[in-house]
Amino acid sequence: MKDFCIIGSGISGSTIAHILSKKYSLDVYDKARGAGGRSSNKKFNQSESFDHGLQYISPKSTQFKRFINNLITKKIVKKWPGKHIFLNKDKKEDKKHAKIIGNKGNNSVSKYLLKNINCIFNTELIKISNKDKIWELNFSDGTKKFYKSLILTCPFPQLKKLSKKYIKHSFINKKVKMDANITVMMVTKKVKPNISSYFFSDEILGWAAYENSKKRFKSDYDLWTLQSTYKWANKVINKNKINKLDNAKILINKFFELTNLKKNKVVHIQNHGWKYSSNSKPLNIKSYWNSSIRLGACADWFVGSRLESGWLSAKDLSLKIKK
Ligand SMILES: Cc1cc2nc3c(=O)[nH]c(=O)nc-3n(C[C@H](O)[C@H](O)[C@H](O)COP(=O)(O)OP(=O)(O)OC[C@H]3O[C@@H](n4cnc5c(N)ncnc54)[C@H](O)[C@@H]3O)c2cc1C
Repeated sequence: MKDFCIIGSGISGSTIAHILSKKYSLDVYDKARGAGGRSSNKKFNQSESFDHGLQYISPKSTQFKRFINNLITKKIVKKWPGKHIFLNKDKKEDKKHAKIIGNKGNNSVSKYLLKNINCIFNTELIKISNKDKIWELNFSDGTKKFYKSLILTCPFPQLKKLSKKYIKHSFINKKVKMDANITVMMVTKKVKPNISSYFFSDEILGWAAYENSKKRFKSDYDLWTLQSTYKWANKVINKNKINKLDNAKILINKFFELTNLKKNKVVHIQNHGWKYSSNSKPLNIKSYWNSSIRLGACADWFVGSRLESGWLSAKDLSLKIKK
């Protein structure tokens, strides 16, 4: 029986797995097709792709800056140059911190951390139970697996559903509200704008990234990732599955209206709804560890709303486990 089962291959799961793998045997499970979680990357063609979750990393803490600088040296991540246009009147532009993206996609960091780790994808954990200090885990493919310790890194509502019988801590009774986001991946005939991104001041459209400007691929098309505001997404997310095209068209029309870019033929549209995108109110603990039943949790929402928050939460959990 292996020591640890880690649920989730986003930054939190991949970071804790990377640290614990130096001392323990472990497996990582994810219900998605590949690594990265909310910092995933979606292929359009063989080489062209969209970062349809996390847009860029802007390291703030000294510890995380050091980690990212090391990954720049290793060519896992890089700076995202170009013209980033800030149109939001309600927020201050963060000019102090660099915009960092994955070299091949924004899931590059998770992929790098999980390089030598056994990962099982397309497999959802649906039920957990602890008998005689052993975790019995039931997965969506009908399999049952046993581990000495369990670590969950899911968004808060999913973690609560799985583990509220076992987590006896005040945070589990808190209302951690995670905002939604609607992301549209749009491919148009080429205009080749000299722009990398837009940060809008609008009720509906929040952000647009020109994927070609990340210099990961050459394309005959322009690839744009459009992301809604949280406010609008929270209102429409529950019916997004049946209104995919209509919602995508609302964001696309907004985009052309606000940017004044020439509207070339749109050849591909994909709408991805994130029900649990981010939590803006951090908790008063950075991670959770119960050493008697060996159950842990780490995720961005403990610390904040960004990738760095997930990394800090995983680091904190690793220290608790070491004690
Ligand atoms: C649209 C959007 C834009 C964002 N923009 C930015 C940005 O610009 N900068 C920034 O720093 N951050 C941004 N973020 C936030 C950033 O993506 C997250 O903070 C970070 O990716 C969270 O990582 P995590 O590992 O904690 O969680 P996740 O990445 O959500 O990882 C959890 C993983 O667990 C898996 N999982 C869940 N339940 C189960 C289960 N039962 N069984 C198996 N697997 C399961 C999921 O599939 C997922 O892969 C953005 C997020 C979104 C959605």
